[in-house]
Amino acid sequence: MAAYEYETHDYDVVVVGAGGAGLRATLGMAEQGLRTACISKVFPTRSHTVAAQGGIAASLSNMGPDHWQWHMYDTVKGSDWLGDTDAMEYLAREAPKAVYELEHYGVPFSRTEEGKIYQRPFGGHTTEFGEGPPVQRTCAAADRTGHAILHTLYGQSLKQKAEFYIEYFAIDLLMSEDGRCEGVLCWKLDDGTMHVFAAKMVVLATGGYGRAYFSATSAHTCTGDGGGMVARAGLPLQDMEFVQFHPTGIYGSGCLITEGARGEGGYLTNSEGERFMERYAPTYKDLAPRDYVSRSMTMEIREGRGVGPDGDHIHLNLNHLPAEALAERLPGISESAKIFAGVDVTKEPIPVLPTVHYNMGGIPTNYFGEVLNPTEEDPNAVVPGLMAVGEAGCASVHGANRLGSNSLIDLVVFGRAAAIRAGSVVDRDSAIPTPRTSEIEKSFERFDALRHADGATPTAELRLEMQKAMQEDAAVFRTDKTLKEGVDKMTAIAGKMADIKVTDRSLVWNSDLMETLELTNLMPNALATIVGAEARKESRGAHAHEDYPERDDAEWRKHTITRIDGAKVDLSYRPVITAPLTTEAEGGINEARIAPKKRTF
Ligand SMILES: Cc1cc2nc3c(=O)[nH]c(=O)nc-3n(C[C@H](O)[C@H](O)[C@H](O)COP(=O)(O)OP(=O)(O)OC[C@H]3O[C@@H](n4cnc5c(N)ncnc54)[C@H](O)[C@@H]3O)c2cc1C
Repeated sequence: MAAYEYETHDYDVVVVGAGGAGLRATLGMAEQGLRTACISKVFPTRSHTVAAQGGIAASLSNMGPDHWQWHMYDTVKGSDWLGDTDAMEYLAREAPKAVYELEHYGVPFSRTEEGKIYQRPFGGHTTEFGEGPPVQRTCAAADRTGHAILHTLYGQSLKQKAEFYIEYFAIDLLMSEDGRCEGVLCWKLDDGTMHVFAAKMVVLATGGYGRAYFSATSAHTCTGDGGGMVARAGLPLQDMEFVQFHPTGIYGSGCLITEGARGEGGYLTNSEGERFMERYAPTYKDLAPRDYVSRSMTMEIREGRGVGPDGDHIHLNLNHLPAEALAERLPGISESAKIFAGVDVTKEPIPVLPTVHYNMGGIPTNYFGEVLNPTEEDPNAVVPGLMAVGEAGCASVHGANRLGSNSLIDLVVFGRAAAIRAGSVVDRDSAIPTPRTSEIEKSFERFDALRHADGATPTAELRLEMQKAMQEDAAVFRTDKTLKEGVDKMTAIAGKMADIKVTDRSLVWNSDLMETLELTNLMPNALATIVGAEARKESRGAHAHEDYPERDDAEWRKHTITRIDGAKVDLSYRPVITAPLTTEAEGGINEARIAPKKRTF
């Protein structure tokens, strides 16, 4: 038996993750006087949210007429009718409130002439329930919106006396015998000590798993740790086959050029200099949603109209825009284009390629942020003591495809919702649970086995194998053949975890061991993605299946639920919630208005 000593910490609430979602939840919990700890493997302001450029969606109507119901409609259509309608309504309705709160907390938004929050157009955001022109709905702080939000929320959380445990790595959830979450086991990276955090409520805000792929816009820390912890606790993941490819990753590095670049007037061209999006999406052109634009770019390249010596990418043109506008509205991406593509955006186009960007799937929750463990009797059964918010969660507001600028708003709306819910379900006077010794020992054993792993395959090698398999077989376009191959490859790769080799046995700043723990988290996320994709015989949102090019609502308008045990994946399905929270007569949101129809732009 592996013997590790540990220190115990007692809290009402423990939030794992200090990105936008984790910090907004932490702040809301602390404001209500709940004793709150926030744990993060990186310094809070280095979380991936810091890299968000384009902005945050809310129907403020600062630049022209807008309505939360139009935002809701666009989100429903953007999701390709896979999102849960109650959650999508909650998102759109609460969005303006959540943004004004951010403003009052001190986020330095860009301003209009009259001093209102500046808003720019983004793909898929329209007026008049998809019938009117594009709307300027995306609130921005130049092209550094995530940076502004993250720094503000961190400052406010400190002011509210939330306690931060920085550079602590959460290893596993600690569950009670009857399925309640009672805490989390952590490893302090800088001194090797071990810590049990006992809590009445644990909130997972660990972000996405973009690093399951070879080329991604996300940080190297985006390894789906929350999904891994949940899978090991015997709980499910939802809709993992839906992976968003952002149309404009810089060719080669994958570094992101925000959709705000097209929002500000940028456009894509092929090798013939043609603005090809006009053919694919006559109405919204370059501002069609991301799945649509990524597919159109891939078709152009396939049909021999890609740019560059190998004809394998596309051009994004900004050089027709006034230099002052670029300097004021898009300073960050001008710099990225210079560094990563050697391009001066005022003079030349940027070489771009669809790049993995966002995970629509994640830990299933209701719109209060409570984690679900669907059963046949109750598809919406709640796991007591456990919440998930942000990209780690799946509420599900993005369904099969997320609209640009709808993630940042998801972080703050549901971070806030989780805090409001915890305020009513966490009993301040009850005793803090004592996690079971057997759970702690089980987790230490796993940790110790990895620490002393002496197989033949180094972590970096196996990770690369996984990333290449996912990149190749779970791509923008998928076929029965590639998916079947992908499942076989990933099953074999997951099997090789037993043969992993870790060389550093120390407990202090052991990045080899940390990356191995992260690989044990990436693996179930990747497996669920490819197995879910192979099973889904239709095309919907980001899941473009060439053998089944149409959406099939009769058979497939349902959430994929995956339970993973080692290399084994068990599949089941959960009904989509189709009823809105409020129903209005004609003119507003009601079930008829948001019923599925063909998705064109
Ligand atoms: C380059 C880029 C640009 C983007 N631009 C936009 C945009 O303009 N608008 C928009 O709406 N969306 C945008 N997105 C998407 C959006 O930014 C992300 O979905 C969102 O920031 C995720 O936030 P989060 O709080 O869920 O997680 P993250 O910000 O990824 O934070 C995760 C946190 O969890 C912690 N953590 C993870 N695992 C562990 C562990 N095992 N132990 C302890 N701590 C752990 C990390 O330390 C970190 O603090 C962009 C994404 C990228 C990659």
